[in-house]
Amino acid sequence: MKCDICNAETGINYGNSNAVLCNGCSSSEEIMDQVAAGLIKPAPTGGPSTTVDFSTQSTHKIALLISIIGWVVFSLGAVGSLLMLSGGPPAVLTCVGFSISGLLIIAAGEVTKSTAENAAHSREILKIMRDKT
Ligand SMILES: [Zn+2]
Repeated sequence: MKCDICNAETGINYGNSNAVLCNGCSSSEEIMDQVAAGLIKPAPTGGPSTTVDFSTQSTHKIALLISIIGWVVFSLGAVGSLLMLSGGPPAVLTCVGFSISGLLIIAAGEVTKSTAENAAHSREILKIMRDKT
């Protein structure tokens, strides 16, 4: 890290959470008074952007597609089981099975999506940590 006053490289922050100071600057009482008063502010770091645009990722699109297919299968099963009520238990159970399959497909889509988001976040955390040094 760099001292906020003289810009010298320092391994330890001799200042506080508001200002990074080197050993030399922290021994100056005048500077420490200014730091305590909040007069010396660290240089803005730009602030890491925490917004990751997931919509541009192909994995995200695939996950969305899987979810849509899941909802279609689930809906078909739900509607089918109502239509098949007159067909007796075997027909209804078949459609209920369809609905359950649909739900599992939706779950798979969500898992795919969160895996992709997790990877994107890890990449961003790595970038932030690299920028800090
Ligand atoms: Zn300094």
